[in-house]
Amino acid sequence: MLYIVSTPIGNLKDITLRALETLKSVDLIAAEDTRHTKILLDAYEIQKPLTSFFEHNEKAKAAYLLNLLKEGKNIAVVSDAGTPGISDPGFVMIRLALENNIPMTVVPGVSAAICALTASGLPSHCFIFEGFLPVKSGARRNKLESLKNQEGTIIFYESPHRLLKTLHDINEIWDDPVIVVARELTKKFEEILKDKTSHLIAHFNSHSPKGEFVLLSNHN
Ligand code: SAM
Repeated sequence: MLYIVSTPIGNLKDITLRALETLKSVDLIAAEDTRHTKILLDAYEIQKPLTSFFEHNEKAKAAYLLNLLKEGKNIAVVSDAGTPGISDPGFVMIRLALENNIPMTVVPGVSAAICALTASGLPSHCFIFEGFLPVKSGARRNKLESLKNQEGTIIFYESPHRLLKTLHDINEIWDDPVIVVARELTKKFEEILKDKTSHLIAHFNSHSPKGEFVLLSNHN
């Protein structure tokens, strides 16, 4: 059986009883970053073999894990934060398991996108999750152009070192909309800012962006 197990996005207490039970019961835990997951396992005194499963080895590792599953092993996949498969390498393993008729179940929990949407106060009956915008400027701007008339709330993940570039592009292409920046959700420095992008640019020019970010907009 393959278990897709959600883990916290910051606060170690945001883990379900079923997730803990599952992590205690499996033969092997495949983690995006084994050092990161070890902190969680240590906090709950769970001792299980860990193997890494990340962006640069995901295809080879998925094939290896598939063989173990076919031999009858129980494996849990966890990512660094939140729900595996949502903008992270868990996706490859999920698809491979489905294609190979491996019994699979999701142990649900938090995801940064849904946590940010809830905290934003923006309409949530209709939303589109865009994951990370393209890194290259041209592709990123094209993507934003294509979303200019998008209805509903748009959700992006963004890294701290690209935040200002993205805010500049949004400001220019969507004409200085009000957006929500959700930073460090569930952590000590959690912050939800709602303002025009021009004001947010000024804010982050004087407060260097640190931590993890979700951006949300409902500009139509
Ligand atoms: N699978 C994860 C999920 O379910 O949310 C997302 C994985 S993705 C590789 C990591 C990105 O999620 C970060 O770059 C950031 O944009 C967002 N993220 C994760 N934890 C966050 C947090 N505590 N606060 C704000 N954003 C967060």
